[in-house]
Amino acid sequence: MKKFINRPESAVEEMLEGFVVLNPDLIRLSGHKVIVRADREAARDRQVALISGGGSGHEPAHAGYVGAGMLSAAVAGEIFTSPDSDSVYAAIKAVVGRPGALLVVKNYTGDRLNFGVAAETARSEGIPVEMIFVNDDVALANDGRVASARGLAGTVLIHKIVGAAAAEGKSLTDVTNIGKAAIESLATMGVSFSAGTSPSVGRPSFELGDDEMELGLGIHGEPGLSRTYLRPADDLAEMLLTEILKQRRFGPEKRVAMMINNLGATTPMELAIVARQATSLLRLQSFEVERVYAGTFLSSLDMAGISISVLGVDDAILRWLDASTLASGWPNLPKRRPGDVDRQLTVGMHENVPRSSGRARTAQGDMVRRAIEAACTALIASEPELTEMDRLTGDGDLGTNMKRAASAVKEAVDSYPVDDLAATLKNIGHTLRRELGGSSGPLYGVLFLRTGSVLESSGDLESSKGLKLNKYIQSFEEGLTAISELGGAKPGDRTMLDALDPFVKALKKAGTSLSGEGLRAAAEEAQRGAEATAQMAPRLGRSSYLGARVLGHPDPGARAVAIWLKAVSDALFV
Ligand code: ADP
Ligand code: MG
Repeated sequence: MKKFINRPESAVEEMLEGFVVLNPDLIRLSGHKVIVRADREAARDRQVALISGGGSGHEPAHAGYVGAGMLSAAVAGEIFTSPDSDSVYAAIKAVVGRPGALLVVKNYTGDRLNFGVAAETARSEGIPVEMIFVNDDVALANDGRVASARGLAGTVLIHKIVGAAAAEGKSLTDVTNIGKAAIESLATMGVSFSAGTSPSVGRPSFELGDDEMELGLGIHGEPGLSRTYLRPADDLAEMLLTEILKQRRFGPEKRVAMMINNLGATTPMELAIVARQATSLLRLQSFEVERVYAGTFLSSLDMAGISISVLGVDDAILRWLDASTLASGWPNLPKRRPGDVDRQLTVGMHENVPRSSGRARTAQGDMVRRAIEAACTALIASEPELTEMDRLTGDGDLGTNMKRAASAVKEAVDSYPVDDLAATLKNIGHTLRRELGGSSGPLYGVLFLRTGSVLESSGDLESSKGLKLNKYIQSFEEGLTAISELGGAKPGDRTMLDALDPFVKALKKAGTSLSGEGLRAAAEEAQRGAEATAQMAPRLGRSSYLGARVLGHPDPGARAVAIWLKAVSDALFV
């Protein structure tokens, strides 16, 4: 077990200490693991005091829900262990005033007993105390075991509703009835890929195979209703909602709020994927989805799981959900319904880049097309070599990225105006920019865009003596400058420039008398340059993270350049 703790025995205490550091509106109760609102004296006689709590390991529950507009106090037990009744009693005493106190208790035997004894003790001293028990768990309810239905993440919605109702100044009886009615229309079910690890136990509370998951589980490390095979997120959302909707207690108007809760180790990415599907499914069943919350509301240590809660709402409940609170664990979101997945905006992209059929009408166009195809074929064939080289010196993605991009160019060549070299180069630049990815994508993008633009503005490219080769070379040279401008590298920095630069220099030396031989010789210079990178220290890109470890291995980006330059020179002069 690796955790950011000091000693398992002190983890809960130290967490609460950290909690008040992070939330100066809260204070700890001396001698107890209890967090109360710092402004409790001002609130004491103005509103019903709300107290909740339970075992720790469910953070941000419950201390995260203490604050104006939600709870008055939270009582923390040891991990997954009910707090003792003394602490609950102390919490009541710390915050209760004339309007009395409501205890919000999750339906677990230990919590019922300890909160129950504390309530009884307070009542025996003349303090008005009511209790409500949250049992939103439908895994057990649908199994016919309603009495044992547990309190799960839906409890946080109850905290919010009674919290806002109490803050409005409602009486103890009213707040209690509001809470009870909300619990009646609340259902939660969870699924998990792994169990959490308690600091005091040191290993997960149950083991799951790689392809297994637990369905309908609780929050205290106990296994779920059943163990089944892993499914994609959309199927899981549907399985959970199907069980939840069997409850049919969300009101005739079918207006609901939904909570997608992270049980500990689920990423925001996964929560969003599930939220999207669950919202769509509810809408398909003609529910009016009034609010959707996604995040870590009530966790079970580092369990890789989620739960979905659905709550029937009306205008009053919505008002209480929307009311702002100072509790740090509640997202004070704008008052609005979830968005529509299909809403999208389309932006016109590069409409001024000329396109036409890739069929060549001129001999030059024919050569251009042949060169493009040869370069792509060579890069596709070199995928394994480039992958291995980038694995040794970077992150290993260059081979597959080049292969994907080369395939895309090969396919797109049919839309390139191959008789117009400048426009074709720009088209290649756009395709590579979009398809290549990594660092190479934007760098190749500017290389071809700049080369194309310079060539386009170079005026007449032909004279009586034939093609003005120096203009082609100059435009390519400017393309290299663009790579330097964008990426900050110069020749000698162990990048693709170390292949491109020797190539351009060789071409310049050959000058106007460039022949097939000359082009091939320049491509060989590119390969020599690529090989020389093996002895260069990396200054940029991912290789720089590896430092001296890359020495002896050539730069894959430079090698890729040598590969396509050789293919082009071979294709042009056969
Ligand atoms: P990433 O590091 O993002 O995975 P790629 O795998 O797409 O990048 O490309 C790696 C290659 O990109 C390197 O081998 C190097 O030749 C080239 N490269 C990285 N950074 C630069 C830069 N700033 N200028 C020029 N080329 C660079
Ligand atoms: Mg890479």
